[in-house]
Amino acid sequence: MSLLVVGTVAFDAIETPFGKTDKIIGGAATYATLAASYFTDKINLLSVIGNDFPESAIQQFADYEISTEGLQIKSDAKTFFWSGKYHNDMNTRDTLATELNVLADFDPLVPDSYQDCEFLMLGNLMPSVQRKVIERLWIRPKFIVMDTMNFWMDIAMEELVQTIALVDILVINDAEARQLSGEYSLVRAAQKILNLGPKYLIIKKGEHGALLFNKQQVFFAPALPLEDVFDPTGAGDTFAGAFIGHLAATRDVSFENLKRAIIFGSAMASFCVEKFGTERIVGLTEEEVQERVQAFIDLVQFDISLV
Ligand code: AMP
Repeated sequence: MSLLVVGTVAFDAIETPFGKTDKIIGGAATYATLAASYFTDKINLLSVIGNDFPESAIQQFADYEISTEGLQIKSDAKTFFWSGKYHNDMNTRDTLATELNVLADFDPLVPDSYQDCEFLMLGNLMPSVQRKVIERLWIRPKFIVMDTMNFWMDIAMEELVQTIALVDILVINDAEARQLSGEYSLVRAAQKILNLGPKYLIIKKGEHGALLFNKQQVFFAPALPLEDVFDPTGAGDTFAGAFIGHLAATRDVSFENLKRAIIFGSAMASFCVEKFGTERIVGLTEEEVQERVQAFIDLVQFDISLV
């Protein structure tokens, strides 16, 4: 049984108040697979790249035992490119460029060796492509996590809503939840989004943590207060990758275990923002990850006896 991650493998150019990068390796599926690899094995990557993508970056997936059998290489086109600039608060950003390139006609072919997929992470991509992946799996996975962003709400809302109806959990940020639902209150937004079909919803609030909803319950996980947030790019994908990585490792999709998965996701995301790109989420030791998770436990633990 395996974890399948579909999403972008990309070049990003990032500008934050701390500095600027040229094209570096990014993409939702890059962050998500790397983060998941700290928690589970048998990770399969489904994506597309162009003729300009370096061999060494493909090798890095192999180094983390992430299968690239489903990574299509288009010899006549360029890799997806995204560029963004963060505001001083680091919670908001402007997209400067989105060049779909190879993504424009991406046909997500699922290799037979990926068909034992038990956990599916639909990383940020065209919603129609995300749906195709679900349809092409012979057996519906036990649990489907879906990410998306404002870009798709702007240009493909109808398809997006159709895909959301097919998944178990949608993971979006607060601005996206408001845009998707047309509600300012996140509680109202959550009710409306859950009515679209998913059993659960996570609303990420950047440095203010994340909320997990189902129709009856709410759980809140803080973000770790960090001295310096260097580059938030990929934090959401890292969060989602670690989240589903924990679920895949434990094969437990109870609300209690989703709560634990959120803490693992938040811990990995807190590493991601400490450096540009994927730099901080490669080469972490087990001890570093455990210490960070412990910091979360310490942050929220308190004793109150109610009489
Ligand atoms: P995050 O900061 O978690 O929202 O994710 C940032 C990553 O998403 C970057 O590495 C980008 O390459 C990728 N990305 C940006 N825009 C899109 C898009 N429209 N579709 C898919 N991936 C995107």
